[in-house]
Amino acid sequence: MAEIISLLGSTGSIGRQTLDICREQGIKVAALTAHSSIDLLERQAREFRPRLAVVYEMEPALELNRRLAGEGIEVAYGLDGLRRAASLAESDTVVTAVVGMAGLWPTMAAIESGKRVALANKETLVCAGELVMDAARRYGAEIIPVDSEHSAIFQCLQGSRDRGEIRRLILTCSGGPFFGLRREEAAQKTRADALRHPNWSMGEKITIDCATLMNKGLEFIEAIRLFRVSPGQVDVVIHRQSIIHSMVEFRDGAVLAQMGTPDMRLPIRYALTYPNRERSELPALDLLSCPPLTFAPPDLEAFPCLRLAMDCARVGGTSCAVLNGANEAAVELFRREEISFGRIPDLVEEALGQISVKSNPSMEDILEADGQARAAVTRSAGGGS
Ligand code: NAD
Ligand code: MG
Repeated sequence: MAEIISLLGSTGSIGRQTLDICREQGIKVAALTAHSSIDLLERQAREFRPRLAVVYEMEPALELNRRLAGEGIEVAYGLDGLRRAASLAESDTVVTAVVGMAGLWPTMAAIESGKRVALANKETLVCAGELVMDAARRYGAEIIPVDSEHSAIFQCLQGSRDRGEIRRLILTCSGGPFFGLRREEAAQKTRADALRHPNWSMGEKITIDCATLMNKGLEFIEAIRLFRVSPGQVDVVIHRQSIIHSMVEFRDGAVLAQMGTPDMRLPIRYALTYPNRERSELPALDLLSCPPLTFAPPDLEAFPCLRLAMDCARVGGTSCAVLNGANEAAVELFRREEISFGRIPDLVEEALGQISVKSNPSMEDILEADGQARAAVTRSAGGGS
């Protein structure tokens, strides 16, 4: 069970809910970090009294430093600041709730310091999963998933000592706000439409990924990395009610599912209290009043991002870094309303077609692929949307 954490991305959706669990469980906080939103970071710092507060951007960091003068809280900035937050001696656990591949460096710093990592930042595992998992083994750092599907699988695997027992992982997917639409219909949807998720309230980037189903594609790759299974062992099933958070089918035919009211605080609490389960105020799942549980195959024609991610999982090498980098760049353009929803999968597919894949990539290869993917998206988007 975590006693003192470093929380990277404390002002975001996962970050704020992590602090709810810290309040609930009396977990102390040694470091808080944010990109630039210092008003909230200041309030969090005054409440949790961390030793270190980090703002990625320098200007707001200087302002926060002025505001917290005399409080005994050191303020740092930039990547160095994030790395320091991730490797503070007093933290036993690092929660990585930064969004995007920017989380890669602090995640590696946490692993190299041998911390337990409660990992929400899926983009890191997608672009550099093999390097991250190898480093975790080398430094003896435990990785506990926070993503609800992977937490569900992790929970179902407790008590199973042999990975050979797993026949199949079944990732459930809500289908997102555009479930049931054809590709041409979804293509017309606006930013506001995409930000209306039926079952979860989350940061903007992941909410848009849920609308394109790229989120499930990223999770497909994340599952392969975390649980060391092959792409052929992971299935995705649409389950609109988000009551079953994912399942494991074992070689004897048994299927274990983790169910519950959808609330990210459950997987966050489990990651922080693991291997224990602690009391919570979460409303009990009332099976008699919950809607019928339904299951359907995903529509890979209407939602090509999921198909692209599954293809990249099979290709391996730098292709997942290209997929992720292109997607981050395309989603950013969509958030700024510079491209239509339908262009997101097109831009990712174009980037994948333009950039050659390197196998057994080094960290440099991955960073290069990420940069090439972002540049390809900027180029193609400039050519008309
Ligand atoms: P968010 O946008 O709400 O918060 C992101 C946090 O990261 C903020 O604190 C922000 O200040 C910080 N940040 C952003 N860019 C940064 C940068 N370049 N450098 C340093 N800090 C930066 O996002 P979120 O919804 O909380 O998601 C965080 C991560 O967790 C994502 O990888 C997401 O895929 C994953 N995740 C989220 C949920 C959810 O319910 N929100 C569920 C599963 C997984
Ligand atoms: Mg998820």
